[in-house]
Amino acid sequence: MSTKPLSKSSKTPTRIGSHALLAKFGLGTPAALALHLPMRYEDETQLWTIAEALAQSGEGAVQTQGVVTRSQVLYRPRRQLLVTITDNGDELNLRWLHFYPSQQKQMALGAHLRVRGEIRDGYLGAEMVHPTVRAVPANAPLPKSLTPVYSVTAGISQAMIRKAVLGALNHPSMQMVLAEIIPPVILETAEKAAMQFSLRDAVMYLHQPPADANTNALMERTHPAWRRVQLEELLAQQLSLKQAHELRKSRASPPKIVSNELARAIPSSEAKSLTSRLCAALSFELTTAQQRVWSQIGKDLQASYPMNRLLQGDVGSGKTIVAALAAAHMVERSYQVAIMAPTEILAEQHYLKFKEWFEPLGVSVIWLAGGMKAKEKKQAQVSIQSGQAQIVVGTHALIQDAVHFAALGLAVIDEQHRFGVRQRLEISQRIGSVTYYCHQLMMSATPIPRTLAMTYYADLDVSVIDELPPGRQPITTKLVKDSRRQELIAGLEHWLQKGLQAYWVCPLIEESEVLQLQTAVDSHAELSSVLRHYQIGLIHGRLKAEEKAAIMADFKSGKTKILVSTTVIEVGVDVPNAALMVIEHAERFGYAQIHQLRGRVGRGSAESSCILMYSEPLSLAAKERLQTLREVSDGFVIAERDLALRGPGELLGAKQSGDAMLRFVDLQRDAWLIQIAHCLADRLLKQHPALVKALLGRWIGARTEFLKA
Ligand code: ADP
Ligand code: MG
Repeated sequence: MSTKPLSKSSKTPTRIGSHALLAKFGLGTPAALALHLPMRYEDETQLWTIAEALAQSGEGAVQTQGVVTRSQVLYRPRRQLLVTITDNGDELNLRWLHFYPSQQKQMALGAHLRVRGEIRDGYLGAEMVHPTVRAVPANAPLPKSLTPVYSVTAGISQAMIRKAVLGALNHPSMQMVLAEIIPPVILETAEKAAMQFSLRDAVMYLHQPPADANTNALMERTHPAWRRVQLEELLAQQLSLKQAHELRKSRASPPKIVSNELARAIPSSEAKSLTSRLCAALSFELTTAQQRVWSQIGKDLQASYPMNRLLQGDVGSGKTIVAALAAAHMVERSYQVAIMAPTEILAEQHYLKFKEWFEPLGVSVIWLAGGMKAKEKKQAQVSIQSGQAQIVVGTHALIQDAVHFAALGLAVIDEQHRFGVRQRLEISQRIGSVTYYCHQLMMSATPIPRTLAMTYYADLDVSVIDELPPGRQPITTKLVKDSRRQELIAGLEHWLQKGLQAYWVCPLIEESEVLQLQTAVDSHAELSSVLRHYQIGLIHGRLKAEEKAAIMADFKSGKTKILVSTTVIEVGVDVPNAALMVIEHAERFGYAQIHQLRGRVGRGSAESSCILMYSEPLSLAAKERLQTLREVSDGFVIAERDLALRGPGELLGAKQSGDAMLRFVDLQRDAWLIQIAHCLADRLLKQHPALVKALLGRWIGARTEFLKA
């Protein structure tokens, strides 16, 4: 191309410099570059006069050109570069709020510029802010294809990466790099849309789509060329999941018979198993759903290979007791069990529950968290290492260096999406054995549609508790404008007179933890002064663990009537007598957060309510969210709305396994391709096992470590 885009620096980077940069970004080879497909496209194939461009103001990016007739740096209201280009007597203003001296120089009076951007009505009339600029003559030819825009990192310009990609596509190795791996007979069974292109043609097309290409389909990634790429990527992912599954099946689970020194004297004279004694001591019966998932888990724990199971169940569905049964089973086999939760409050609740359940059965339950005194921590670590501690409950502290289990048989990870893949790998490295792998049970209240779970996580079995324990009160959710705050607070008195308790949740202020704390302190003061005959508690993330524990204990015992809190109570807290929850500035919370929060109420016998206090004006999205939350109580439905809104990445926790593996597939948009890829994977494995490695090498490469999670 004869056009020379303005680069941010007047110095073009040397070859070595750019190559090293690209390599750092994982783009050091022609193969990597070829599969670094564009993020989006810009249409520079069309050129409008300034008059025509102005007529398209506010309708998206346009390309136009003209001669610079004014170029000046203004200092008010802030430093900025203002350039006017003129063509046929029509003028267009261009504005930069950040610019380099080199840019200023190239846009000097009299220069001819071709610019591209969206025209909007600005302070000084119609203008383009931060347009793309090329200093080219008026008759410079237009590109024949759409211009690809790549994702880049600091230091790599679009020009640099375009050049590198072009170089790669013309590299002699390309024939081989993009060779067809999937045999045509297998591919034929796939979706037609994905078959119009060979892989090589698809990749070439996507990097340099012709001017008449269907831009929308390209942008939305629904074009047949994209389909071809997506299908192959998904196929590779499905193959890698199958491999991970094979790998897990080839590994040993904790053996049935442990070596003598670890075998512990669980009073074996008892005719009944520990699990049945635990069940017998419960004040409730397991629901059918709990029994079902427990039988699935129980079977896993007896298998010759380690369990990797996700236990899903809505807030309050009773996942904890299922985890406890699994723990009992492993303890009886003389193994240790670790229960890890993402926050101290949640971990502490588990600790208290497990102590209540297990100590009467003669099983030791110990606590390990970051907030402990050094001496206590040391003590805990020693008893973990000696095997004396049978069940260990705690936070991330469980995966710190000093923790070594004597014989860990089962790791339970609650609210697993709050943990990273690496953290889950960590625990399996301190189990005290190199001859077996421990069972893993992950728990989550965030329901994940099955297809998503299937592809999203590395090899994982899923159990679902789809029923709440009997006697749960439906929660009535009300929306209340914050102008009625005083009225609402005064009304709380009736509630307290009935002997009930309440949560008062303060808004999430993402920008500032200090501000967030301040609102909690203010609300606490306000509630305390209006409801002065009642004890009001305040809990937040800045408190020490013991302080939090004391505050929770007071609330649990009923001494404190209202618990004002920041979002620290989001997960797991369990106080049946608290049947009312008020959430301030509910419009600032996401679906999942509110759903989890309000799952704290409706656990006792009293009728329960959740009041979502909001302040106007509400964005459309917030309005829809609040209305949905008022009408819908089913966590599954809410999760699906959430998924539609935010996409799987955020819903499931940032950068989990499958996410890191799929670059061009959007699990929501392309869900229908999953099943196809799944079948193709089966056929390929059966009929052409030798090709699997090549395909995985192309698409998954170094990312397989995630498969172990
Ligand atoms: P989650 O699934 O949200 O972790 P929990 O395990 O904390 O839910 O259970 C919520 C509450 O329900 C706890 O108080 C627990 O003891 C109680 N619970 C669990 N299973 C049953 C059941 N089958 N019948 C009655 N109450 C139950
Ligand atoms: Mg829970």
